[in-house]
Amino acid sequence: MTRDLTHYSGGAHRAGTSGRFGDVHDPATGQITSRVPLADGGEVADIVGVAAAAQPAWAATNPQRRARILLRFVDLVNEHVDELAALLSAEHGKTLADAKGDIARGIEVVEFCAAAPHLLKGEFSDSVGTGIDVHSLRQPLGVVAGITPFNFPAMIPLWKAGPALAAGNAFVLKPSERDPSVPLRLAELLTEAGLPDGIFSVVNGDKVAVDALLDDPRIKAVGFVGSTPIAQSIYAHAAANGKRAQCFGGAKNHMIILPDADLDMAVDALIGAGYGSAGERCMAISVAVPVGEQTADALVARLKERIDGLRLGEATDPEADFGPVVSAAAKERIEAAIATGIEEGAELVADGRGRTVDGYPGGFWVGPTLFDRVRPEMALYREEIFGPVLSVVRAADYEEALRLPTEHEYGNGVAIFTRDGDAARDFASRVEVGMVGINVPIPVPIAYYTFGGWKASGFGDLNQHGADAFRFYTRTKTVTTRWPSGIRAGASFVMPEGS
Ligand code: NAD
Repeated sequence: MTRDLTHYSGGAHRAGTSGRFGDVHDPATGQITSRVPLADGGEVADIVGVAAAAQPAWAATNPQRRARILLRFVDLVNEHVDELAALLSAEHGKTLADAKGDIARGIEVVEFCAAAPHLLKGEFSDSVGTGIDVHSLRQPLGVVAGITPFNFPAMIPLWKAGPALAAGNAFVLKPSERDPSVPLRLAELLTEAGLPDGIFSVVNGDKVAVDALLDDPRIKAVGFVGSTPIAQSIYAHAAANGKRAQCFGGAKNHMIILPDADLDMAVDALIGAGYGSAGERCMAISVAVPVGEQTADALVARLKERIDGLRLGEATDPEADFGPVVSAAAKERIEAAIATGIEEGAELVADGRGRTVDGYPGGFWVGPTLFDRVRPEMALYREEIFGPVLSVVRAADYEEALRLPTEHEYGNGVAIFTRDGDAARDFASRVEVGMVGINVPIPVPIAYYTFGGWKASGFGDLNQHGADAFRFYTRTKTVTTRWPSGIRAGASFVMPEGS
């Protein structure tokens, strides 16, 4: 008998009533471990109603008190980190150490939200006219929604919920139906930390629940992270309904290796950033661009050597470098992309298809895969694969290497490995990608900077976390003030000016 999961609303679990469920799997065994309820429109409306009723009192709670509750929550997450990591790995498949990283990077953003009283400060200008002052306020939007992907089931919900809650909004999370247990546990911990009932809700579901959120006039803003086609359609749907929306999509992240790079460092970086978490990171490196034939030959030879020693394993295997991919469908899709690469004429150096792990015959395993001599016109290069597949595109010179990520449809992350400061500076300035690493393969910015891709990797305004998140989850009101003791000018029929 599999367990039925719930929604979370009003500070308590709430059973699904739609009669529709999705299966949740353990990717290492392929077994169904629970069923997640898929909400219908009525359930979404009820949960949003509970949030809307609770939100005004939360908005009226002073920001320091709100921040203190979030800091208590941080402590609780840290106390429960082993339990949360086990829950996360059992539905996602990533190793326990990697799951802890997922939680830690989420918590960093919630810690940053302790600065809410400062970040929510408005501006004030004295005497902008005779006896007239102006100040601005940052006010919460009301009820806001987050729709998040499977690959970071702790980090991304926390990136969205932390700033939204700190700013005084009620937050309704629609997590991925692949791995909903961690978001539900985080909801319990928020309640335990003292968050008032109704301020954080989890509504589980699929497109039906998402559409209901997008059509609900009480939802004022939508933060989405997932694949590009869905990001684009959610952005259009939310905007058509007059909602504020930021929708982050897929990626194809390049790493440029110049001839003067420290090759050992570059190979270590590529192995970790290409295959860590089975390549299921939006900042994973999926394209290596060595400059010059000599660099390319040396790089491919070393990568091949390292790939042969990589170990796939279940989350609790302390020796495992990475785990299974998330679902049978993902495994099928990744293996089909490998077959396409071969048909297109790329050179398959390491083939991850058909891999198994002893004791886990039903797991969704895909081994590390390496292609050499991939060309820009190939689907293998153009499309996001989201699995442990690394493509080497050989570039003749620096300008050709720079053009590849700049002209690619996606623009999430990019890295350059070199000892040449001039080249690195030029690259960071000219490349058309949102996040750049210089000898850093996965340049996910720290909590107090902002995270966001360009081009087909992000739709809408403002980035995630950092000061942008507080701008996204608030609206500005500007107040112009004059008191009766000021000069009385009588009725005026002309437009007031500042001079
Ligand atoms: P996905 O697009 O399939 O799902 C994301 C969310 O959208 C889930 O909550 C899902 O239930 C919902 N959804 C799916 N289909 C929908 C539909 N037709 N209508 C409405 N909602 C729908 O993405 P995923 O497979 O969960 O995650 C992997 C993708 O996310 C990759 O493309 C990856 O690059 C991307 N990603 C991007 C970032 C970023 O910051 N740019 C971060 C992490 C992941």
